Amino acid sequence: MTVFQNHKGTLILQESDIINLINCKTTLDSFLRQLFSVMEDGFRDFAKKQIANPPRHEFYFDKGSVEAMSASDNKYFSCKIVNTHKDNPVFYGLPTIIANGILVDGETGYPLMVTGSTVLTALRTGVASAIATKYLSNKNDKSIGIIGNGAQSLPQLHAISMVRNIENAYIYDTDEQASRSFKKSAENLFGRDLDIHIIKSPQDVCTHSDIIVTATCKDKYATPIVKNKWVSEGTHINAIGGDAPNKVELEKSLIDRSKVIVDFIDQAVYEGESQQILQSQIHSDLAKIVAGLSKGRDNEKQITIFDSVGFAMEDLQVYKLVYEMAIKENIGNMVNISSIPKYSKNIYKSYFDI
Ligand code: NAD
Repeated sequence: MTVFQNHKGTLILQESDIINLINCKTTLDSFLRQLFSVMEDGFRDFAKKQIANPPRHEFYFDKGSVEAMSASDNKYFSCKIVNTHKDNPVFYGLPTIIANGILVDGETGYPLMVTGSTVLTALRTGVASAIATKYLSNKNDKSIGIIGNGAQSLPQLHAISMVRNIENAYIYDTDEQASRSFKKSAENLFGRDLDIHIIKSPQDVCTHSDIIVTATCKDKYATPIVKNKWVSEGTHINAIGGDAPNKVELEKSLIDRSKVIVDFIDQAVYEGESQQILQSQIHSDLAKIVAGLSKGRDNEKQITIFDSVGFAMEDLQVYKLVYEMAIKENIGNMVNISSIPKYSKNIYKSYFDI
């Protein structure tokens, strides 16, 4: 009989455990920096084909969608279940995006961790934009515009401010209360180091900003939010909100004028901003640029777009990081979600005394 030597059980990490881990055992800044490092490694490993990542499976409902996103680095497998239900905040007091995930031991298939992932999703999406910004934006960029000031937006500003010396943030949301709440938290986070300006139109956000983030949950089929004529030469755009068929945030002529880099090409072509263009117009994925296999920005005047739809590799990397941290700090509940039968080949004998 083979005994599973490393069996510790399955770690259940509730969202509150993750907040506890970040608040009490490290800091949000330090956690984001660690995440940056493991995700940068993840992009490199993906470019070297050391991470397998099939396109996600989507299921569409009247009010939103639910997706299964899986990845493996040969040692671990992860799968995240994540939704987008844009009416959740108003009708149910729930976030638009709710995520949960599982990390599995590749050697045995045993579930190592089940974890809430709503906060982790927002943090890793912010870090993905920060990695893109590091490799694609002009080094002396100092202003950022953020269109859509919901759950994803502050981690975007926080992570991007780690790679560029941002002095001014121009923010816009159709819900002004969301912008006011963003501004208050951002002021608590940055103090006097960064000025936050609530702006009345997406046009004014674009004309003020060296870097633009679009993070809206706009309706499918609605007109794109960012118009080509508003965007100056040299701008870098992280487009994160257009992540489903017929849901795009950037005008096509702006994409045609720009160098397009995607997070994950197989998904971006039908879910991202890139659904508006030919695949041949996509320059590269971010992984190849991080790995030095493809060139980023060509010159200071070029407009670059990071078309981010969400990439399971990012979740795999964040799960491995959080699992290690939680085990080390003894946070979370260890349970036997999958019990180990006494007789591994006879469930009846093990459990039903038959
Ligand atoms: P949210 O509902 O918390 O915030 C979205 C905000 O966009 C809301 O405040 C809403 O008022 C605003 N908005 C809607 N239409 C607008 C418009 N036309 N102009 C300006 N603001 C507008 O949602 P969230 O969790 O912040 O997610 C935002 C988007 O990011 C979603 O579409 C989600 O699918 C996407 N997302 C992408 C990734 C990724 O990896 N690329 C990850 C997570 C979420």
